[in-house]
Amino acid sequence: RAKQEGRNRYCYFSEELEAKLLQRHNVELILRAAISNDALEVHYQPQIELNSGRIIGAEALVRLRDDKGGLISPIHFIPLAEETGLITQLGLQVMRKACMAASNWQQQGFDIRVSVNIAAKQFVESSLSDDVARLLEETKLSATQLELEVTESALMDNFEETQNILTNLVEMGVSIAIDDFGTGYSSLSYMKAFPINVLKIDQSFVRDMLLDKQSLDIVKTIAYLASSLGLTLIGEGIEEEQQKLALMDLNCELGQGYLFSKPLPLESFDKLLLAGQV
Ligand code: C2E
Ligand code: MG
Ligand code: MG
Ligand code: MG
Repeated sequence: RAKQEGRNRYCYFSEELEAKLLQRHNVELILRAAISNDALEVHYQPQIELNSGRIIGAEALVRLRDDKGGLISPIHFIPLAEETGLITQLGLQVMRKACMAASNWQQQGFDIRVSVNIAAKQFVESSLSDDVARLLEETKLSATQLELEVTESALMDNFEETQNILTNLVEMGVSIAIDDFGTGYSSLSYMKAFPINVLKIDQSFVRDMLLDKQSLDIVKTIAYLASSLGLTLIGEGIEEEQQKLALMDLNCELGQGYLFSKPLPLESFDKLLLAGQV
């Protein structure tokens, strides 16, 4: 009996695994097709100056459409793109689109920057600073209007290459933000080693800062760190007015989250920009 149950269990898991593999394979096919057709979509989430409500920037977030027209979340294809090496092409396509959008904003007289997520692998497999320089020239975007978001673990993964690349980028005028700040396992020594301009407080701390004292204390510590080191601070995942006010109390000047706007297709973002405020 136990043996039979064991066998059933095995079958159950194997079917589940097979379904996962099929799904993964399917997502990979859709992703490969989107990349070769340059059909990845990019949505833009406004970044807000908290005391005025003014839009000061936008984070570019990649979107993949499945064959039925639905959107597949980046959490389902970014790791896959990293494992298969597709991330290099994906990253460049997203960056080109984001730079084109920002160049248009700049030409229309909007002084806002675009922020692009960079995966760890992009620091090893490609000549990132050359690619960025080329894209800036091609799209006629000022380097100062571009920000790159990297995670703590991406920095620690390839310490020396990343240090060189980021130094080049910062010399060009590009700014560097640490994404999901506070969730990495690394020591703070990297803050001395890398030329960082912006800290993005991870959304988990923002979500919990009014619910538990520990999260609030972590946000306070991050705010103190940012002001001591002269870094710009931005709160991620702001969903409630109270969270916005609590962040402002801690001298966090910038924010991003559903309270202001979800990530939007370019046309909708442009409309929001013309309206001036969220
Ligand atoms: P991230 O860079 O930390 O981006 C923030 C994520 O939080 C986005 O999810 C955004 O839609 C979501 N978000 C924004 N405001 C709120 C809020 O108020 N509440 C909640 N619950 N969520 C909010 P998204 O677009 O699904 O992206 C997930 C992650 O995928 C990103 O996290 C980033 O790590 C990665 N990603 C997205 N686009 C790219 C890309 O072009 N390249 C790379 N390498 N990674 C990307
Ligand atoms: Mg990000
Ligand atoms: Mg983040
Ligand atoms: Mg993240």
